[in-house]
Amino acid sequence: MTPPAPLDVHHLAELARARAELAPKLYAIVAETNSLRATWEALHHAGLFPEPVGRFYAAVRRYGVDGALDALFVPERLDAIRAFVDGPRAPQLPRVSVSTLANQFYCEMQVHLARSHSLRTENAELAAGAAGHAAFEAEAEEITPEEITRAITAGEPLELVEMPLVAELHGVRLVGRADRIHLEGRRARLVLEFKFSGRRELFPSHVVQVEAYGRMLDANGFNTDRLLHCVAVLPRGRKVTDGLAAQIAERALAAAGEGLSAVDTRPASAQPDPLAGLTTRRVDDEAFGLWVFRHHRARAERDLAWALQYWSGQRAPVGTGSRGKCKACPFNAATLCEAAKAPPDGRYAVKRTEGRYGVLHVVQPAVARR
Ligand code: SF4
Repeated sequence: MTPPAPLDVHHLAELARARAELAPKLYAIVAETNSLRATWEALHHAGLFPEPVGRFYAAVRRYGVDGALDALFVPERLDAIRAFVDGPRAPQLPRVSVSTLANQFYCEMQVHLARSHSLRTENAELAAGAAGHAAFEAEAEEITPEEITRAITAGEPLELVEMPLVAELHGVRLVGRADRIHLEGRRARLVLEFKFSGRRELFPSHVVQVEAYGRMLDANGFNTDRLLHCVAVLPRGRKVTDGLAAQIAERALAAAGEGLSAVDTRPASAQPDPLAGLTTRRVDDEAFGLWVFRHHRARAERDLAWALQYWSGQRAPVGTGSRGKCKACPFNAATLCEAAKAPPDGRYAVKRTEGRYGVLHVVQPAVARR
């Protein structure tokens, strides 16, 4: 293999000039996409990142978004980058992931600030969740889209793991991956979501996440009349045993079999509370806690419509009313939130670095800085 010719000083200077001119424009375009997947799709489509999406995620994990974008600036790609940043782009629907939408029910202002500021923080809960999900996924057998279509058409029972879902709702493209979905032909029977947490508790964001999957199944032509939602909370770091997911699904179906209403008794309010008036059955086991409830289309619709109003630009972001959340909030620690209801409690230390695209706030537990 012939080694690449070394770049001369003239070429290096030209590359630096092009980078200084084009990189801010590229970063601004990427910042508008709201999702790494959408960023990869745009770059891939423009021929700037020909590799598969997994490679892009890996680059971002390793070098950050800035580093992954910087690596695109090689002489042979400059023309394509210029065409991409200066050329017309088809208007696209805002793209929102189900997990981001669910986070709006923790604090929408956090979601908003994360879009406009670079902030990095360690989060043990998320890391534990990712590990647990990988273990569940590893148990599943590979199945092709053709096999899925054939089973659905034949009306066969099907248990799908990490099923990708997409739906256009209220002028927004909602995307997500459900942990586990049980189907019988075009009838959706069970949406099962796993949470890895030290607190065995059902949060509004959990409810919204499964409601969204139900609504997306609905939008994709599945019958959700008898759909059950199940949120299983497992302890952080717990080793996942074979068949646990199947056991959880069985317990959920059995709990629902004892009778479970879908009545919605919630009063109407500007910001809906997904937990208010929700009828659930709770099952406690040594290994997990389960909440089972029925899909209620109107309730899901109300929660989603409120959340999506923010993404379609119909209203400004709303901050939480909880002083406790504000105290523990990394955006508050970094003095980025004007809607904070309480001062930060000093659990975090903030390091600010001037990066190529603005200030990067690194928020760490205060003890880590000593
Ligand atoms: S300080 Fe409070 S309102 Fe502001 S982003 Fe954080 S949690 Fe939300």
